[in-house]
Amino acid sequence: MGRYILALDQGTTSSRALLFDERGRSVAVDQREFPQAYPRPGWVEHDPQAIWLSQIAAARGVLARARIEAREVSAIGITNQRETALVWERATGRPIYPAVVWQSRQTASICDDLRARGLGTEVRARTGLMIDAYFSATKVRFILDAVPGAQVRAERGELAFGTVDSWLLWRLTGGRVHATDETNASRTMLWNIHEYAWDGWLLAALDIPRALLPEVRLSSGNFGEADASWLGVTLPIRGVAGDQQAALFGQGCTTSGAAKNTYGTGCFLLMHTRDRAVPSARGLLTTVAARVSGISAAYALEGSVFSAGSTVQWLRDGLGLITSASEVEALAASVPDSGGVTLVPAFTGLGAPYWDESARGAILGLTRGTTRAHIARAALEAIAHQSREVIECLAADAGAPLSALRVDGGACRNGLLMQIQADLLGLPVHRPAELEVTALGVAGLAGIAAGVWGSVEEFTSLDAGAVDVFTPRIDAHERQRQSAAWSRAVGRTLRWETPG
Ligand code: ADP
Repeated sequence: MGRYILALDQGTTSSRALLFDERGRSVAVDQREFPQAYPRPGWVEHDPQAIWLSQIAAARGVLARARIEAREVSAIGITNQRETALVWERATGRPIYPAVVWQSRQTASICDDLRARGLGTEVRARTGLMIDAYFSATKVRFILDAVPGAQVRAERGELAFGTVDSWLLWRLTGGRVHATDETNASRTMLWNIHEYAWDGWLLAALDIPRALLPEVRLSSGNFGEADASWLGVTLPIRGVAGDQQAALFGQGCTTSGAAKNTYGTGCFLLMHTRDRAVPSARGLLTTVAARVSGISAAYALEGSVFSAGSTVQWLRDGLGLITSASEVEALAASVPDSGGVTLVPAFTGLGAPYWDESARGAILGLTRGTTRAHIARAALEAIAHQSREVIECLAADAGAPLSALRVDGGACRNGLLMQIQADLLGLPVHRPAELEVTALGVAGLAGIAAGVWGSVEEFTSLDAGAVDVFTPRIDAHERQRQSAAWSRAVGRTLRWETPG
């Protein structure tokens, strides 16, 4: 048996491939970007062939870079951009329409119709999601409407729907496997998270033929074999998970209350709730976490912050305060505090716990002594305050406090941001040495199914190197004061863009 796990990480702007060794350490990475299509304002589409070609090129690239032979690979894992929807012909493998990307708003009017039909409560109860153009269901409806004859062909069983993992699986296995995993299925808005099954009521409500759907398998399980024509030898595919759930697993968050925050353009926060599908009273999503065989059910609560790293991009591109994102740390560290300045980056409204689309950004508390350094520091504090508020919502919904927060994503390299986060949460923040936790997570799922690791515990206790721990340095009184200042500032930004 081989010694490495090959993780395919198919993202929104690039396809990556990583090799992990038996200690769970990444030994090489390869990355290939592919084009984005914006056919109309608010629409985002991908060429399915470009997704596939970039992914297989990355897989070959990483093996070449590491000088590792494909026969040294024990298993392949696939993690992917979630919710993006594709429909292709079973007979030829040809997509009938471009991939409709998760970010795309092209199905907003279909969602309006569903809401107008009063389906919101049922959708939430069955899927844990709210009706939104993000999720795959309305994208499938859109494709079947956009392509003449597609609905009838779908009913006849001639077409296949899949999220990006399914598409890659289909291609890798030469069309022999049409499957997805439970985490990806849970983001389609067609899958019942309590029954772990496609939901007949939802399929009927959206008039989506069952014959289109992939088979749903355990995230850590058998997804068939990649054809020898791709990498030179037949390789078992043994793990599949959506990117955020893969990261949750890669962070070792498999127990109740364990949570992670990924600091990228936005922040994605997930908290494991074990076998409890906790409904959110605060507008968060209930979703399925990756599970291995022997676990009856696995759920998580999910929340997000719309503007996180993008706030730093705005300091760079909008204000010209810095010339690169990494400069923000030194600039913010050049002052002991924000000098009373609060920046609310409500560029596109505010999510949990405010849910106000009409909020707009503001910088408050300016004095004649305010400098760009204070604004930079306030920007980092804003990322941390928004994350804190989502975490407070997660913990309140779950009815369980968090013990520590695990972090990853591009912006978590900023140590000052992590210290501010620990201060504002009043909890330790753990930053692993291995920051490729999304790929690591699916490598873990695949490696467990392939027998490389004997159990989840064996995988999560691998020594992946030193962990940076940031512990709170301010007291409860100061934390309270800063949170109150943030709340007051947010209050000034709400309902700013009044309709009409
Ligand atoms: P995504 O996957 O969403 O594209 P990444 O995980 O690559 O994001 O992180 C990039 C984001 O992190 C950018 O928005 C960038 O502005 C921000 N960022 C990068 N480095 C830093 C830093 N040192 N401090 C704060 N933000 C940073």
